[in-house]
Amino acid sequence: MSDRLLLTDLSFEELQSWLDRLGEPPFRAQQVFSWIYSALVPEFGAMTNLSVSLRHRLSEAAVLSSLSPLEQVTSADGLTTKELLQLRDDETIESVLMRYEGRQTTCLSSQVGCAVGCPFCATGQSGFKRNLTSGEIVDQVLHFARQLQEAGSTITNVVLMGMGEPLANYDATWKAVRTLNNARGFRLGARRFTISTVGIVPGIRKMAEEGLEVGLAVSLHAPNDALRDQLVPVNRRYPLSELISACRDYTSKTSRRLTFEYALIQGVNDGLQLAHELGTLLHGMLCHVNLIPVNRTPGCDYRPASRDTIMAFRRELNNYGIANTVRLGRGVDIQAGCGQLRSRRLAQVG
Ligand code: SAH
Ligand code: SF4
Repeated sequence: MSDRLLLTDLSFEELQSWLDRLGEPPFRAQQVFSWIYSALVPEFGAMTNLSVSLRHRLSEAAVLSSLSPLEQVTSADGLTTKELLQLRDDETIESVLMRYEGRQTTCLSSQVGCAVGCPFCATGQSGFKRNLTSGEIVDQVLHFARQLQEAGSTITNVVLMGMGEPLANYDATWKAVRTLNNARGFRLGARRFTISTVGIVPGIRKMAEEGLEVGLAVSLHAPNDALRDQLVPVNRRYPLSELISACRDYTSKTSRRLTFEYALIQGVNDGLQLAHELGTLLHGMLCHVNLIPVNRTPGCDYRPASRDTIMAFRRELNNYGIANTVRLGRGVDIQAGCGQLRSRRLAQVG
């Protein structure tokens, strides 16, 4: 593994101190930061307002990306592309680019694997390897932003819904958000980010204090503790009462509507009684429920709820005045479900 510094791991201020230690003048940091986050150059050689000898010194000491693309799949409609990317220690992650309704959204991984172990999730089933660094998270965005730049387009939205639990890697995730939000460079507005969490309560409470109106999605999947303990094992540590209270505080502090993700699994969490319980639990909250027929994953018997069941479930939520949508398996043909491409490859090489 390269021991060169990954520049995207540095905040603007850290970049400034690093260049200062190399004997560079104070304005150098802004030049380099702009090359990385505005011009999106992939190599130091392209930083043409730096001297050739400085470009050479920088490339000996540092790298601009941690990622090498290994495999790419595009959905039949051409709108979703998923990539398997290799990190500098040869671990792999998945990232997705979606182009819908005038938006270009990238879905990022925050960890290699995940320790939470939700039974329906391919990433959870593959176990936990390590946290990503902030630069490795940032690099996924820059990777797709460079592809879009060639077509005269840009990233408009970033969601942390790929592999891993972002709030179990809180510091790196937030540093990445702040780096991409920085007005000196990439300038992506705070409201363009959504962090999806399985419900790590201290992380949600900490996010509420950050002073950035980042979107929060909570993977609920069940309206009572007995069922949620099975589907989302971390519920035993952070039960629903604590989770919902943290969610309410988040919406009141950020004035942002929260999203609840609910993967509908046939015969497990799709009954009308559960829709009624969910309605009661969320009644009066500034929220939106995203109903997703569960994606099938190898080694797990769960099947997606039927269309009729989903419609009945929706009607019940409507009765409680809870806004909801059904997200129909986008990119199912490219195994866009969390962690599926990586699992397939691990199975092939293992
Ligand atoms: N760890 C975070 C973010 C990554 S998972 C979290 O759990 O929220 C992103 C989303 O994909 C979560 O809502 C998760 O529940 C969902 N997901 C994982 N496997 C799935 C599957 N097989 N079908 C449908 N949704 C799935
Ligand atoms: Fe981890 Fe999220 Fe998958 Fe659960 S759904 S195992 S928290 S990545």
